[in-house]
Amino acid sequence: MKPDMDVLNQDNIVEFIGSIFDRRGSEEYLGEPVTMGEHMLQGATIAESEGQPEEIIVGALLHDIGHFTGEFGTFMMNDTEDRHHEDAGAVLLEKFFPKVITDCCRYHVAAKRYLCATQPEYFGHLSEASIHSLNLQGGPMTQDEVTEFKKNPNLREIIAVRYLDEAGKQAGMKTPDFWHFAPLVQKLVDKHIGTN
Ligand code: FE
Repeated sequence: MKPDMDVLNQDNIVEFIGSIFDRRGSEEYLGEPVTMGEHMLQGATIAESEGQPEEIIVGALLHDIGHFTGEFGTFMMNDTEDRHHEDAGAVLLEKFFPKVITDCCRYHVAAKRYLCATQPEYFGHLSEASIHSLNLQGGPMTQDEVTEFKKNPNLREIIAVRYLDEAGKQAGMKTPDFWHFAPLVQKLVDKHIGTN
């Protein structure tokens, strides 16, 4: 479903995102042993259990929301070009969330390319599907790209969400559903937009 962005506002965005989790969370994720909904809920649940900052919990929860916008369809293992779900997600999020959360979404693919270039052991964390998409996404960053990427003031949060992205691919892990996190998501929307 392509969201009608015009009808979304501070008071219905959380309900809208929750409805995406409810209606479409069970869709397959990139050939991983988890659904799309499980993947994002696992990242958020791990972040919460580790006592990570609220922005990182919500960043992990929403980082792949672009898979659901319908703008670019869903990833397939036989894709021959990258579909840029990270940009689709960021376009939805940037109207409602602080830049740190939008950046965690917009740059979660770039963060994989960054970590592959700068942390030799990181590659070993990647699933087969994630290695496949890495190649479509341009492979590890060049030194110039690394230098540029490091300038992002939200680098720490972006990297934290990237590690949660890798961690949230566990078959059978129990998590709460989206609505457990909804009050926190609303709190960050209200903090960003301002309460009435
Ligand atoms: Fe992900």
